[in-house]
Amino acid sequence: KPDVAQRLLGLAGRKIESPTVHAVNDVNLAIAKGEVVGLVGESGCGKSTLGRMAAGLIRPSAGSIHYQGKDIATLRGKARLDYILGVQMIFQDPQASLNPKQRLHQILGEALKVHGLAPASEIPGRVDAALAEVGLERDYRNRFPHQISGGQRQRIGIARALMVQPSFLVCDEPVAALDVSIQAQVINLFMDLRDRHGFTYLFISHDLGVVRHISDRVAIMYLGRIVEIAAAADIFSRAAHPYTQALLAEMPDVQRQKRVFTPIKGEIPSPLNPPSGCTFHPRCPHATARCKEEAPVLQDIGTGHQAACHLLTHPA
Ligand code: SF4
Ligand code: MG
Repeated sequence: KPDVAQRLLGLAGRKIESPTVHAVNDVNLAIAKGEVVGLVGESGCGKSTLGRMAAGLIRPSAGSIHYQGKDIATLRGKARLDYILGVQMIFQDPQASLNPKQRLHQILGEALKVHGLAPASEIPGRVDAALAEVGLERDYRNRFPHQISGGQRQRIGIARALMVQPSFLVCDEPVAALDVSIQAQVINLFMDLRDRHGFTYLFISHDLGVVRHISDRVAIMYLGRIVEIAAAADIFSRAAHPYTQALLAEMPDVQRQKRVFTPIKGEIPSPLNPPSGCTFHPRCPHATARCKEEAPVLQDIGTGHQAACHLLTHPA
C-alpha cells in the first residue's frame, strides 16, 4: 500500500520508480533551520538514499529521522501530513516527474486540489504566484511539459514543490541534467528562494563545484558513510580527508592551481561488499596496514570540522 508520501508524489504526476537503495551506515547529520548542507559523493555512495530517507520516501532499517524535533516514524494524521508537505524533494529529471498530458497549471495545482489544501478559487492565483517565484511568465500556465525547455521544466518542478509551502527542500542532483550555462541560473534561483523564504536545503550532488556557492556546510559521503563534514569554506580551503582532497583535485578550476593531490585511482567498490577497515583504503594514496584492518570514525579535527581518517586523528 503506498505510503502518504508516495501517494502525494504519485498525485503530483511523478512516476514512482523503485530506486536502487544504496546502504547508508552510521550517519548522524543534523541540519539547522535555514541551513544549506551540500551532500557530495560519487554515484552509489548512498547520498540519494539519505535524501530520500530525510523526505520520508525510504524508511531506515535502523536509527531514526527527526523533523522539527519529532521522530517522523511517530507522526500520525495532520502531523504526518505537515511533515510530508513541509519536506519536498526536487529530482534530477523533471521530465520523468511531469505528467505529459497535463497543462502546467494542472500539474502545479494538483496537490492543493486533491488534498483540499486550498479552496478551488484560490488555486489559480497560487499557481501564478508560484510561476512568478521561479521566474516564469504567467502564460506558461497553459503549456504542456514538452513545450518548455529542460531548465524551465526544472523551474516547474521547483514551483510544484513551492505550492505546498515547504520549509525543507531535499534537492537530489537538481542541475545534473542541465546544460552548464543553465545550471548556474537554477542554482541562483535556489539561492534567491532561500533568501526570500528562509528555506533549509539538503543539496545533493556528485559535483563539489555545484554545491560550492550554495552550501553553508558540506558533507562528503563515501560508500554509505560521511567521511568529512565542515563549513563549505573549510572543505574548499583545508580539506582533510584524502577522499575529499581527491574530489577537489578533480575539479577543473582547482586543477589550474598548484596541484598537490593525487587523483582518485580505481573503481568504486560495491557498497554491498565493502572493503575491510577504512573502505577507502584500496583507492587511498596514504593507506597503511592499519587502514585495512580498522575503520576510522568521524572525529573532531577543528571547529565544526569532522573527518574519519587514521592519519588525522592519530598522526603517525
Ligand atoms: Fe586513507 Fe587510511 Fe585515512 Fe582511510 S584511514 S582515508 S585509507 S589514510
Ligand atoms: Mg543519486
